[in-house]
Amino acid sequence: MASTHRLSRQQIVYSLDQTHAPALEITPGDTVVLETYDARTGTIQRDGDLLDHAHPQGANPATGPILVRGAAPGDALGVEIQRIDLAPQGFLAVKAGMGLLGHLAKDFATRMVQIEGDQVRFGEHLRFPIRPMVGVIGTAPAGPGISTGMPGSHGGNMDNRYIGPGSKVYLPVNVPGALLGLGDVHGAMGDGEITFIGLEICAEVTARVELLKDFPLRRPLVETPEYWITTGDHPDTTQALRIAAEEMVLLMQERMGLSFADAYMLMSAAVDVQICQCCGPGEFPVTTRAVISKALIERGAKA
Ligand code: CA
Ligand code: CA
Repeated sequence: MASTHRLSRQQIVYSLDQTHAPALEITPGDTVVLETYDARTGTIQRDGDLLDHAHPQGANPATGPILVRGAAPGDALGVEIQRIDLAPQGFLAVKAGMGLLGHLAKDFATRMVQIEGDQVRFGEHLRFPIRPMVGVIGTAPAGPGISTGMPGSHGGNMDNRYIGPGSKVYLPVNVPGALLGLGDVHGAMGDGEITFIGLEICAEVTARVELLKDFPLRRPLVETPEYWITTGDHPDTTQALRIAAEEMVLLMQERMGLSFADAYMLMSAAVDVQICQCCGPGEFPVTTRAVISKALIERGAKA
């Protein structure tokens, strides 16, 4: 029978790495409630707490890693995000000189924001809707560990706002046990995450983890009730968009039985190629996605 586990936010890592000892072992089909830290591990508590110094341990922790029994290279995890419960308070911030408008951002600034029901309170009078999402989700890569600040074919810091409640993230298994990590929840984030910083907040994420045997994946893939979403990342924006698009044209050929030319044409008419994160200049690659309606895939499959 499937079990439910709880993993404390004391169990965090700053890289996804096959040498990390598992914080928890689960059986495929189990559910885990993961307590996640905000991107600064709880060190930002008031408007006067600025991001003007490096975090002592690193930034962007992921809770984990979770060993999935029986997972082996060539398999995939299907991680269903069932709920995201946000802490009462999070923060937004500017780092001087950083992000897409870094040339205009002369000073550091932090603003604590409160979560009130399904709204964020920004200052006294302004409110906007929460849009909870998971910024970091991934498995340990086959080679050396990768910082939880970075994205890659193992997942990691993808900052894809479709990874919210009701979505399922398919991740390649690269090492025995998979070693899943998840963190960097945002209460809301606009596409681009242009300052480098979403609405960073502690949370509890309820996720059910399934194992798909012999399910080779080149990169993470996301399913929502409405869409299939491929992913890309690269320091160059065009290359990053191209990777997500290539993944999508392959998905369409495979699932819809289309030729390359038909899939490419249909993509141009009906698929959105979008940016998840583009907060350069800086060390972080651009992350991207291509989004297709599941209904269109299904119509193609029947044709
Ligand atoms: Ca992030
Ligand atoms: Ca973040």
